[in-house]
Amino acid sequence: MALLADSDVERVLVVVAHPDDIDFGVAGSVATWTDAGIDVQYCLVTSGDAGGHDESVSRTEMVEIRQREQTAAAKVVGVTELHWLGFPDGRVEPSLELRAAISRVIREVRPQRVVAMSPDRNYERVYASHPDHLATGEATMAAVYPDSRNPFAFPELRTPIFRSSRIIILERMTGTTRSSVWKCLTRSTTRALTDPTQT
Ligand SMILES: [Zn+2]
Repeated sequence: MALLADSDVERVLVVVAHPDDIDFGVAGSVATWTDAGIDVQYCLVTSGDAGGHDESVSRTEMVEIRQREQTAAAKVVGVTELHWLGFPDGRVEPSLELRAAISRVIREVRPQRVVAMSPDRNYERVYASHPDHLATGEATMAAVYPDSRNPFAFPELRTPIFRSSRIIILERMTGTTRSSVWKCLTRSTTRALTDPTQT
């Protein structure tokens, strides 16, 4: 199953559970794409309000800190459009509500390439299989196919449908240098899915 060549991609949407997931997982590739002139946007399901270990930091303050950090980190790799969905950190489920929220962003951004977290548990790397990651991966897959392309799914969104043609499943978390993340992503392409309706 072939990936679209970068030259055929105008827009990429990266969907993750937490602020910092992208920076640990795929920011190097994002930098490569933005350098090539591709418009990359982020969709963050939570704002990381359950992060950190300091109980003196209010959860409201934690959201402000993590949104500020993520926005700054995105800017470093050429990304300025961030879509915050505001679901509670640590309690993400692959619900219809989440599927609709991700579908709305897909329909607005209209990305040819979607980068998703893996919905499959990795027993060799348990930390990468945080329940929020699995739920976000499952909801993202459902949003790409069939929700965002089905005119009868979530009519309340009142947005035109869109068919993203490729999904990249982000399976491994690694460093953020361009070369190491690119290798990670290249390995992940074995799990890239071709649009079943466009064979
Ligand atoms: Zn995470």
